[in-house]
Amino acid sequence: MNMLQKRVYIETYGCQMNEHDSERILRLLEASLYSETKEAREADLILINTCSVREKPEHKVYSALGRFKRLKEEKGAIIGVAGCVAQQEGERLLNRVPYLDMVIGTHAIPLIPQLLERVEAYGERVCEIEFDQTGEYLKPPLLPRPLVKVKSYVTIMQGCDHFCSFCIVPYVRGRERSRPSREVLEEVGQLAELGVKEVCLLGQNVNGYGKGLEGELDFSTLLHRINEIEAIERIRFTTSHPADLSDSLINDFSELEKLCEHIHLPFQSGSDRILKAMHRGYTKASYLERIDRLKEVCPSIAITADVIVGFPGEEEEDFKETLNLMERVRFDDLFSFKYSPRKGTRAAQFQNRVEEKVKQEWLAILQQVQKEITFQKNLALEGKKQEVLVEGRSKQSDQDVTGRTRSNKIVNFPGDMNLVGKLVPVKIMKAFAHSLRGEMTSPTYTLSNSSSGNNP
Ligand code: SAM
Ligand code: SF4
Repeated sequence: MNMLQKRVYIETYGCQMNEHDSERILRLLEASLYSETKEAREADLILINTCSVREKPEHKVYSALGRFKRLKEEKGAIIGVAGCVAQQEGERLLNRVPYLDMVIGTHAIPLIPQLLERVEAYGERVCEIEFDQTGEYLKPPLLPRPLVKVKSYVTIMQGCDHFCSFCIVPYVRGRERSRPSREVLEEVGQLAELGVKEVCLLGQNVNGYGKGLEGELDFSTLLHRINEIEAIERIRFTTSHPADLSDSLINDFSELEKLCEHIHLPFQSGSDRILKAMHRGYTKASYLERIDRLKEVCPSIAITADVIVGFPGEEEEDFKETLNLMERVRFDDLFSFKYSPRKGTRAAQFQNRVEEKVKQEWLAILQQVQKEITFQKNLALEGKKQEVLVEGRSKQSDQDVTGRTRSNKIVNFPGDMNLVGKLVPVKIMKAFAHSLRGEMTSPTYTLSNSSSGNNP
């Protein structure tokens, strides 16, 4: 390690967007001679990349700050908070936590080196939470070479204009803003040159891509362009909003050979009354109509979603509608949350709160139902051949590698590290609750000489 080199430790809460932001921060800090450490006690700089979308991750921030106080006292580490909580709390956070040095809002990531310099050189305590109107904040920092990664996120838009009544995102990430397609395509091209095989296009509402940018491509056309980039073998995206899921995007699942057969389509509730109060802009029937259309166009599609239980005013009947929707769709997996009021959102004002005990009960029922469905879905793959993109060594065994099917299911199978970055055919031998076990069936092959990844 260079004598001048310093260490940064980042703790990340929340969604893929935050994980990706943390990666961007690390790349930016490389230019300021910081390298990553996985141990907070070795760090000269400790950053907590926060999430305030739900109550649980928000609370974690304060307990993490408590843990790091000692490192500040003993080692003089610089401590910063980034992400949604930083955006929301701003100066209040500096006042509340006297040993905190930096508050970095969601649009301020590119400013981190300058902010850090002010802390390091002048001992200032800094807070930057302005929303950037130029879109500069969406630009990724230069990519390091070599980048030894199989898959990568690519931000195509940020923010949200939907204003669902329970959600803090439009307040902490700002309004929808897309990156110009020229930049996105350039980044995907560079990633491909660096060996990335799979890209996942990120945005709170990817269907809204291009809105507000004169003459810009729409999301479906952007997918078509990325599909033409030769060295990219797989494309995914997240998240799409059910109310904006166009026919052309649905058709892409049969037209674009690189677009993986998986969609994450949060439904939040199966009750029309609750969907209306949530301001989601669709009904149970119209959600199911979109699902039917997806299954018609792409019968092997895996569908995952988010759901909330215990929204204000939700009654037993509403909850049953949610269970009914789950049974109708039979999701491959479901991310389920108890409603938590978020300061500043409309639903936080609603009076008819659901008791915590009831929320807990409903969540447990829902998760049990889903657990069974997920397992059945995994079981149905036993004996089938799946295309797996190998990502690395399996956590469970040194003899195994791990990767994902096109439908985004984790598969572990015996193999060596030479397979990393390759698409291989694997026969599924055993299904578990959250993963599959398999065996490679023939020598390595690439997409260009294989017909389909989901052949039985
Ligand atoms: N943009 C996506 C969409 O429209 O579905 C999701 C964005 S949000 C970051 C991720 C998930 O968090 C949501 O789908 C929702 O299920 C959950 N969530 C958001 N606000 C919540 C709240 N106040 N209480 C509980 N869950 C919440
Ligand atoms: Fe939040 Fe709704 Fe926007 Fe998703 S669509 S980020 S849930 S406001």
